[in-house]
Amino acid sequence: MSSFDIAIIGGGIAGLSAACFLAEDRGDGSRIAVIERESQPGYHTTGRSAAMYTEVYGNATIRAMVKAGRPFLKTPHARYCDRSFLSPRGALMIARDDQVHRVGEFLREMNRPDVLEQVDRDRCLQISPALDPDYVAGGVHEPDAMDIDVHALLQGYVRVFRGLGGQIIADAEVRSITRRNGVFAIDAGAGQIEAPLLINAAGAWGDVIAGMAGAAPVGLVPKRRTAITFDAPAGTNPGNWPLTFDLDEQWYFKPDAGRILASPADQTPSEPCDAQPEELDIAICIDRIETASTLEVRRPASKWAGLRCFVDDHSPVNGFDDRIEGLYWLVGQGGYGIKTSPVMARIAVSQIAGRPIDDDILAHGLRPANLGVERLRGQ
Ligand SMILES: Cc1cc2nc3c(=O)[nH]c(=O)nc-3n(C[C@H](O)[C@H](O)[C@H](O)COP(=O)(O)OP(=O)(O)OC[C@H]3O[C@@H](n4cnc5c(N)ncnc54)[C@H](O)[C@@H]3O)c2cc1C
Repeated sequence: MSSFDIAIIGGGIAGLSAACFLAEDRGDGSRIAVIERESQPGYHTTGRSAAMYTEVYGNATIRAMVKAGRPFLKTPHARYCDRSFLSPRGALMIARDDQVHRVGEFLREMNRPDVLEQVDRDRCLQISPALDPDYVAGGVHEPDAMDIDVHALLQGYVRVFRGLGGQIIADAEVRSITRRNGVFAIDAGAGQIEAPLLINAAGAWGDVIAGMAGAAPVGLVPKRRTAITFDAPAGTNPGNWPLTFDLDEQWYFKPDAGRILASPADQTPSEPCDAQPEELDIAICIDRIETASTLEVRRPASKWAGLRCFVDDHSPVNGFDDRIEGLYWLVGQGGYGIKTSPVMARIAVSQIAGRPIDDDILAHGLRPANLGVERLRGQ
């Protein structure tokens, strides 16, 4: 039996960012454990993302979190990484003739004239030269959208956490949780772990873990998203192409380590599992990319799928359970969990320490009422 102050279930970006920031806040990580089923951190959704930072994707809660997290991601302290986690990429949302009348509506909803510029067809083709000239009618450019070095970010959290004495207990699948005298007793295969505070950062398994701890589910729905990479056409240098996607989020592509990464932007509800790509989704992906661009996908070089997990209102769940004392939720990050990780972890640290959320986060318009489980109860 090992005893800790805080046990965190889930060694993805959510669990490790929280572990790292909690250890820093306490000046010591030795009483914090991250429990992970797999042999290494980041195996599930964290290792399967498109690694993008854009400030105009997701609802207002997500967008506020992302904006508030930019300084950390852009200029991390040297103890996390000796360089920025962000590098220039740009994002271009394009519209066909039949979609272009909705571009104004998108710009009004985002209300970010500081980062977005409306662009015409010629400019779209200049920015993203692989687009099919007959497909594009216009678009919106976010020049400041960035690639995120997800590996460096995850390793930065791990390094700082371990450096403060924090423990990552791998190959440890949590099978049952009981709560006695204010302490959670967690059966994680190899041994029992006890802690009075339990953080549920189990990604797609968030409601499963909550059920083990005696809490009501929040209605988390894992949704499968597929991605492939393929070779760029001979003689092209796609390195500085932007993330290119369409107004209705039916597909996207971007350069990725010398190749091109593409997705059909599918969101098929799934059980929590080790998600695998379906042949049909890959075929749809190839068809959509070849329709919108001049690219030819002869054979994917790699393919994968990951689970983006949402609750009903598509905001994350970042707060204490309303009934089970000592249970803290850190789930529902959807397609945004890499870029929201620093701010979600900071919110967790403040709430666990009984402090208000930091002003620099709230200044971006984040409403605390949109974070907790209470908003999801009684639906
Ligand atoms: C195709 C795709 C593209 C994406 N693109 C982006 C993007 O561009 N930008 C962005 O910010 N986000 C993106 N995302 C979303 C992002 O990847 C996720 O929001 C984020 O990784 C979620 O992290 P997590 O730690 O909550 O989940 P996970 O990484 O899944 O971690 C949860 C962990 O909990 C562990 N666990 C679960 N149950 C148990 C148990 N019983 N015992 C022990 N351990 C357990 C699992 O093994 C897992 O490792 C994308 C996702 C996908 C699939």
